[in-house]
Amino acid sequence: MKYREIKRCNNLKVSEIALGCEGFIGKDRKKFTEMFGRALELGINFIDMYTPNPGFRENLGAAIKGHREQVILQGHICSVWENGQYLRTRDIKKTKAAFEDQLKLTGTDYIDIGMIHYVDSESDFNEVFNGEVIKYCMELKEQGKIRATGISSHNPLVAKKAVESGLVDVLMFSVNAAYDMQPASEDVNALFAPESYAGGLVNMNPDRKELYELCEKENVAIDVMKAFGGGDMLNAGLSPFGTSFNEYQCIEYCLTRPGVVSVMAGCRSVEEIEKAVSYYGASREERDYSLVLSGMKKFKFHGNCMYCGHCAPCSVGINVADVNKYLNLCLAQEEVPETVAEHYKLLAHHASECIECKKCESNCPFGVEIVNKMKKAAEVFGY
Ligand code: SF4
Ligand code: SF4
Repeated sequence: MKYREIKRCNNLKVSEIALGCEGFIGKDRKKFTEMFGRALELGINFIDMYTPNPGFRENLGAAIKGHREQVILQGHICSVWENGQYLRTRDIKKTKAAFEDQLKLTGTDYIDIGMIHYVDSESDFNEVFNGEVIKYCMELKEQGKIRATGISSHNPLVAKKAVESGLVDVLMFSVNAAYDMQPASEDVNALFAPESYAGGLVNMNPDRKELYELCEKENVAIDVMKAFGGGDMLNAGLSPFGTSFNEYQCIEYCLTRPGVVSVMAGCRSVEEIEKAVSYYGASREERDYSLVLSGMKKFKFHGNCMYCGHCAPCSVGINVADVNKYLNLCLAQEEVPETVAEHYKLLAHHASECIECKKCESNCPFGVEIVNKMKKAAEVFGY
């Protein structure tokens, strides 16, 4: 397992592969404990707990008993349980009661990340960020009942506003190659609707690209939901692309977006947990998503680096994907942020070493003018 840091939360280390909670809902205590125990054994230390389902909370409490410190809990604020079902609310009384219930049933006195649940529309954003909910989150943080604040969203414009507010440390966001082509929408169903993919889409949506770069710049950690598009991305018949990805390609795609720290995999069994973690044993070819993306007839990714690494190896050992990522972060911000300069410095080889052999360009399925990019990077970073 590899770990990445939530920088705005004392560099809290979270596993790159983490757990969504859907697959645990409805499991009996024995099965739950078995799945959770296996995940811990494999190095997973991070779980999302959006559901207020009491059975889930109690089972999780039992599973983490004795090793609370080992586990990073992402609990949702504004997610309540009413009449045997989950509801989203902005009612502050219900929100407070649901949070206390979360602590009690899970048997803990703090939640690592307090995630304001599901903010997709502008009006909802305004209600949350100008009202009682954000104040409550800040109080919880001051009291040490949460260590970091976050929001979950599917809308890049709303998510950007939240990041720009300076009040969130973590963003839970829906990321996969199909959604990344879609324009911002307040309607989550548009991400899944066939008509949204009826026209030929070209390249990543600029708002989504900007969001990921902004998160990287502001050290807001993204944890990913819907990396497999609810399973659709894994099935050629259901995928909006008409072609399937494998699990490793979906995970690799997310982990190569700027700002991303973890992918919340929605595993339903021990076998599915083991499959997700077997990403680390997968070959470079198995993880490589570039040929799926570049082979599509109706959709086109062209001219922009997707950070896929398919052009490697470079003749002189430059990590082209990383250089391009750091370059784009600087270009987006019109400056060289200190952290990006540090990351660039740590690379074994730098853009100025490029001998312009163009071997990488002939390997890049997206037609990126890599030699020009290396020249630009050498100019921006100075070497
Ligand atoms: S230059 Fe092309 S092949 Fe290389 S990482 Fe970028 S998109 Fe992938
Ligand atoms: S053109 Fe430059 S970056 Fe590409 S393989 Fe040759 S040396 Fe490496």
